Amino acid sequence: MGKTYIFGHKNPDTDSITSSLVMADFERKMGNLDVVACRLGNLNKETEYVLNYLKIEAPKLIESVEDGSNVILVDHNSPSESIDNLNDVNILKVIDHHKVALETSYPLYYRAEPVGCTETVIYKLYKENGLEIDKTIATLMVSAIISDTLLLKSPTTTEEDKKAVEELSKIAEIDSENYGLEMLKAGTDLSSFSIDEILHLDAKKIDFKEVKAIVDQVNTADISEVMKLKADLESRINEIISEENLDLFMLLITDIVNSNSQVIALGNSASLVEKAYGVKLENNTALLKGVVSRKKQVVPIMTENA
Ligand code: MG
Ligand code: MG
Ligand code: MG
Repeated sequence: MGKTYIFGHKNPDTDSITSSLVMADFERKMGNLDVVACRLGNLNKETEYVLNYLKIEAPKLIESVEDGSNVILVDHNSPSESIDNLNDVNILKVIDHHKVALETSYPLYYRAEPVGCTETVIYKLYKENGLEIDKTIATLMVSAIISDTLLLKSPTTTEEDKKAVEELSKIAEIDSENYGLEMLKAGTDLSSFSIDEILHLDAKKIDFKEVKAIVDQVNTADISEVMKLKADLESRINEIISEENLDLFMLLITDIVNSNSQVIALGNSASLVEKAYGVKLENNTALLKGVVSRKKQVVPIMTENA
């Protein structure tokens, strides 16, 4: 059948990176030996922390695969977040936890569940197939679930995520609270990044009906530290708005300890943020109390109000 390339979305997060590694293990255990775990971008610091902790290699960095190749998509299905020639490859499987944005002209194995993390879905695949989860795989899985759910505090968290973390932490021999906080904090160290790099860590293009937007998120343990960069962030954001012809750019600076986000909103449609959250932007910014999830607390509310 030839090689199967497994990868998550561009701007990969811990879920995308670990899910490609874990899914490759799953496929091998199921007898599909010719699989390659890949990634579509650089590692963030949080993911680096996980791979260093385990002393394992990152998935192979690729930009594209040859037309006709077999691929498995993890942690995404939207063509805009995938390889450019997605239409010309053979998607064998999708394992995901996002809304469906993919259409194919052929049948495929499609497994998406409304849980907090792709790894929770893959965890269930191991269970359903009676496969053993080793310590490394368990650590990769639990890291991603903690990352995507911000230590099981995000509203995207389900009972299944909690159950998975409980069991996987035992196999991984970690205290999920301590390990998780260290891992999340490693991801908030912005010291070595330029303004442009900070803005590229976790940016997603999203349309709220007619409003063309980017919703960008950066995690921190101290909002005021990131707000020191506000002027520089804003001038680069304004450039991105004209380059990409955007109506709105939302930068969510998310406090992972207290579960709030400071938003910086720029663009002609910035007032949509005021309408959606009942806040007043002062100097382009406002505190969004309790908002941590782009998927559950930004996309639906902004779309509804657009
Ligand atoms: Mg992701
Ligand atoms: Mg995910
Ligand atoms: Mg994320």
